[in-house]
Amino acid sequence: MVQRGQGFRIGRLFGIDIRVDWTWLIVFALVTYSLGNTYGQFHEDWSGTLRWGLAVLSALLFFGSVLAHELAHSLVSQARGNPVNSITLFLFGGVSNIKEEPDSPQGEFLMALLGPVTSLVIGGALLLTAGVTGGRITTVSNPSEVIPQLGPARMVLVWLGSINVILGLFNLIPGFPLDGGRVLRSILWAATNDLGRATRWASWVGRGFGLLMTFGGFSMVFGATIPFFGSGLINGIWLAFIGWYLNNASAQSYQRVVVQDILEGVPVKRMMRTDPPTVSPSTGVDRLVREHIMGGDDHSFPVIDGQEVVGIVTLEDVRSLPEEEWESTTVREIMTPHDKCTVLAPDEDASEALTQLAACDVRQLPVLEGGNLKGVLRRQDVIQWMRLHSESGGWGGSSSGLGSGLGGQGRAGRQRGGQAADRRSAR
Ligand SMILES: [Zn+2]
Repeated sequence: MVQRGQGFRIGRLFGIDIRVDWTWLIVFALVTYSLGNTYGQFHEDWSGTLRWGLAVLSALLFFGSVLAHELAHSLVSQARGNPVNSITLFLFGGVSNIKEEPDSPQGEFLMALLGPVTSLVIGGALLLTAGVTGGRITTVSNPSEVIPQLGPARMVLVWLGSINVILGLFNLIPGFPLDGGRVLRSILWAATNDLGRATRWASWVGRGFGLLMTFGGFSMVFGATIPFFGSGLINGIWLAFIGWYLNNASAQSYQRVVVQDILEGVPVKRMMRTDPPTVSPSTGVDRLVREHIMGGDDHSFPVIDGQEVVGIVTLEDVRSLPEEEWESTTVREIMTPHDKCTVLAPDEDASEALTQLAACDVRQLPVLEGGNLKGVLRRQDVIQWMRLHSESGGWGGSSSGLGSGLGGQGRAGRQRGGQAADRRSAR
């Protein structure tokens, strides 16, 4: 199954696939560009090759730093018997796709804390090395006086050291889903023995921090100076953007808890559509369009050969076929074969089913029992169920919070209760 948003694989470490999302290329370009310019600003004597070479090297080492942070999370997880599918680096940092959520507050605490600790240790070590090598720095009061004194190697060490410290500190902000928020959640979880409530509170704190940062960022845009973050248009926009991202991520984490509460323990058969329209593999695509797609509001159809489900055909499959070929093509030629699509069981937990819908990035999945088709579970059926059962009755019906998850990442794993565990570090 191809998962969207998982990026391309660049290698494998400790049995974990290392992937890079295309958005990381933006980070690479931005870091290289701004460092190349900064180096040039303070060292007019350096050649273009030297400063751009250093800029590219710094960007690559930055990549290594984020990777080290994620590996720390992942290795703790693996050491505790919880396998990790992959690590993906993207615009805001990295994500470890861990198969299951930690099963205890202690596990969560350790796993969350080790990432930022790793960044702080790396940062501290690099800054120490920069201070020890190459003689003393005479002034420390003003960075613009210190930086011109630094040679190429120390320049990279100082920058990389600082960025690792910032990475560590930022991730310790106690708002879920940041690492610090997971630490907070594990403490609340231990105190209340209620993971749902702990997640809810930790996400509220995350939303609060997100809103504060957005507000701070906009204040900077309008000329205010925020301690530690400074002032200025670009810094302000960046801070506001990160705040907005954190607020969003926290809201979605909260929404997932709500969804989980509603769907947990409810079997698929209670919300699936029984007696769904089906087609046979030998049906022509033109007939599929005329009699099934145009005749109803369904988007996909299980393909049945005799009693057996052999695949699923969707509106998207038809759309990718040129119209002049509809008459000469059969459903079998364009359908997704059975062995390539996920199926559900009638007694499966609906929250698990929702994770499957999201992981496969489809609008519906066939429900099978003993190889026989029992029904279809559509995203809209799940949303309808939630409209019926949510406290406010005002479930927006937006499937975005159900489907793609944070930052549009496909989710490979599952956790108890049905969500994949994403462990993110943001910059
Ligand atoms: Zn982290």
